Amino acid sequence: MAIVTAIEAPPGARRRLGLANPATREPIGEIEVQNARDVALALGMARKAQSDWAARSVDERAHYLKRAVRKLIERQDEFVDVISRESGKPRTEILMMEIYSACDALTYYAKHAAEMLHPEKRQLHGFMRFMKKLRIEYRPLGVIGVISPWNGPFILSLDPTIQALLAGNAVLLKPSEVTPYSGKLVGDLLADVGLPEGVVSVLMGDGETGEALVEAGVDKISFTGSVQTGRSVAVACARQLIPCTLELGGKDPMIVCKDANLDNAAGGALVGAFLNSGHVCCGTERVYVVDEVADEFTQKVLERVARLRQGSRGEFDVGAIFWDRQLEIIEAHVADAIAKGARLLAGGRRNPDFDGLFFEPTVLADVNHNMLIMQEETFGPVLPIMRVADLDEAVRLANQTHYGLGANIWTRDHRSGVELARRIESGSVCINDMSMTYGVLEAPFGGLKSSGVGQVHGPNALRNFTQAKPILIDRYGGKATAGLYPYSFKNEARMQWLIRILYRSPLGRWLS
Ligand code: NAD
Repeated sequence: MAIVTAIEAPPGARRRLGLANPATREPIGEIEVQNARDVALALGMARKAQSDWAARSVDERAHYLKRAVRKLIERQDEFVDVISRESGKPRTEILMMEIYSACDALTYYAKHAAEMLHPEKRQLHGFMRFMKKLRIEYRPLGVIGVISPWNGPFILSLDPTIQALLAGNAVLLKPSEVTPYSGKLVGDLLADVGLPEGVVSVLMGDGETGEALVEAGVDKISFTGSVQTGRSVAVACARQLIPCTLELGGKDPMIVCKDANLDNAAGGALVGAFLNSGHVCCGTERVYVVDEVADEFTQKVLERVARLRQGSRGEFDVGAIFWDRQLEIIEAHVADAIAKGARLLAGGRRNPDFDGLFFEPTVLADVNHNMLIMQEETFGPVLPIMRVADLDEAVRLANQTHYGLGANIWTRDHRSGVELARRIESGSVCINDMSMTYGVLEAPFGGLKSSGVGQVHGPNALRNFTQAKPILIDRYGGKATAGLYPYSFKNEARMQWLIRILYRSPLGRWLS
């Protein structure tokens, strides 16, 4: 859903899922769950289409993406409607997180793809530089399986898909069953700009379809989703010896230093915790504020929370919970915290003004690390605030988790902020902003610990969807190797002389 319910199907027929709008509970459609046979058919088409696609120049591939930006702008209202129906999030948030980010990624990668994938000539070091020339080519892997979650249903489906395409691969995309129509928009957009048939196929379905895709014989899996599913995807990929990147969950800490601008920190905490109804992998899930400023910071947070408007129509700030099952997790975490002594400062319950899935923006104090709310990903509009004696305690607690995706630090002193950032065990850190490195395409993004394996974006973004293939050319037509046999005492003496000349003198270091 959206609200997802299984629909009875006759034996032997494909399973069906019914979807309803999470904000209004109105039905929005039904999908057929595609099975292993459907995936195999799509893979066959993808394999056929991929060789022609790979034979095109990078600029030709990029041309489709440039056209996709224009189409997306033309069709943005329609896209916002589809995403809004499935997620119940504010239209401004959809424009910021999904449409703007998509235009940015399409434009950026289309512009830089040729330089990122350009074959490189590398000067060799040492003695080898006189003998060989090295060229590195970035060859497509073949067919990439992209599996995406429901919290950024369009952008998290589009972003890996376009990177894989630019690198010359075909893509089988399996969006979340919670937001299948938003994921399908990626296929519609690319078909609309004339992408050759079979280069991208969208497979609708749930875990059954995802599992079939992982097992289908693709050449890489790019997975974004929960730790639990990510782990099973990793096992399946390891068994088949295919690579995967895993972008998984988080429990991002926010640290508020005593010199922070508390107005900005309080505003940043709200965005970190409540943006996208708190369904952000690198959303702020825990706040550690130093004792000296804890009361003032908390007061400023509460004043702002009181002004937030929840809703589903017109102007509002916080939308629905996208998925009924997530609502149960959020409720369980809040109930566990309160049962263990947390103090509820705001919210804490389903919003009684709405029939749909709404949880009030919630603030908790007096929390500790025995509570689920400080240990497990809540993925909802909840901000637990913990008072700490000093920054050492803040860092110790921030690192006391099996997650390691992002973190954010609020201080006026950039130098000490960077020092603190180095001590946090996470894939990235933002200073004076919520964790938002995913939106900065130059920054490698990925998690430590249970938060994932591998990185996306950054200078290697497109190369992550290729095999870097060295082609080594002998400058002398292979003469040296061809003349290697027979070994002789003379050869042995020559070899000893070479080792001495190179590595007993500065020459070897100089040539290296
Ligand atoms: P999920 O793991 O339940 O599902 C993710 C996708 O995997 C869906 O498309 C689902 O249908 C599919 N799937 C389910 N079972 C599968 C299986 N056995 N094999 C293959 N595919 C299977 O996750 P979710 O609830 O959709 O997403 C929320 C999670 O994603 C949160 O933990 C969030 O933090 C994380 N996330 C991470 C990032 C990141 O970049 N690190 C970004 C967004 C979301």
